[in-house]
Amino acid sequence: MIPPDHPRYRSLVIRERLARCAREGVVALEGLAAHGRAEAFDYLIGEKSTATAREAARVAAALVHKARHPVLSVNGNTAALAADECARFQEVTGCGVEVNLFHRSEERIARITRLLEEAGATVLKGAPERLIPLQHDRALCLPNGIGSADLVLGPLEDGDRCEALRAMGRTVVTIDLNPLSRTARTATLTVVDELTRAMPLITEAYREMSPGEADALVQNLDNHYLLQAAIAEIVRELSRALD
Ligand code: ATP
Repeated sequence: MIPPDHPRYRSLVIRERLARCAREGVVALEGLAAHGRAEAFDYLIGEKSTATAREAARVAAALVHKARHPVLSVNGNTAALAADECARFQEVTGCGVEVNLFHRSEERIARITRLLEEAGATVLKGAPERLIPLQHDRALCLPNGIGSADLVLGPLEDGDRCEALRAMGRTVVTIDLNPLSRTARTATLTVVDELTRAMPLITEAYREMSPGEADALVQNLDNHYLLQAAIAEIVRELSRALD
C-alpha cells in the first residue's frame, strides 16, 4: 500500500499499475523499460504539460479534424495507462481504435482489447494482414483500420513503424516524452508530454475547435520548431532546478 502523502505518490501508483499489467500480460516487460525512459524525461520537463505541449496538442486536434479516417493505435503501455482517455478520445472524435503490438500474441491482443472495452471503447477487430513494410509484427494491421487510415495517432510509437507509415504517405501523430527519439523526429507531429496528460488535452482541443482554426493550425504545422521549443523548455527547467 502506497501512502497517499508520499511525495512521489502518483508515480509510484502508476509503476504499481504497470507492474500488475505486466504480470497479467497486458504490458510487455520491455514496456517497463520504455516507461522508465519516459519517467526520466518527464522529470526533465517538470512533470507538467508545458506551453509547447499544449500548443502541439491543439495542432494534433486540428490534424484529426482534417483527417478522413483517423485511427488510434494502442499498445500495451497505452492501454494500461490510459484506457479511459483513449475511450473518451474515441467518443469525441469518432476515430477507429486498433490494437497494434510489437510483442504480438492473440492472448495479449484479447487482454488489451478487453481493457479498452471495459473503459467504453469500441475496438476494431478482424483478420490482420501485413500491410506495413516491416519485418516484425507491427506490420500486421487491419485493412479497415490502420491499413487504410490517412492519420495514425500512435502514442508511444516506435521509430521503425513511424518511418514506414510516413514513407507510405500517412500522417503520424505521436505522444512521446523524449523529443530526441526517432519517432519524435520522423512523425508529422509530436506532442512532447506524458500520455495521460496529453490525451485529454488533444480531446478537449478537438471538442472546441472551429474548422477555421483547424485549417490555420495545419497550414502552419512545424514539428521541428515544436521539438526545438520542447528542448528549450527542458533546458530552462534544468537551469532553474537548483535555484
Ligand atoms: P525510437 O525508436 O522512436 O527512438 P525508443 O526506442 O526510444 O523509440 P520505444 O521503446 O520504442 O522508444 O518507445 C517508447 C517511447 O515512448 C519512448 O521514447 C518513451 O519516452 C515514450 N513513452 C513511454 N511511456 C510514455 C508515457 N507514459 N508518456 C509519453 N511518452 C512515453
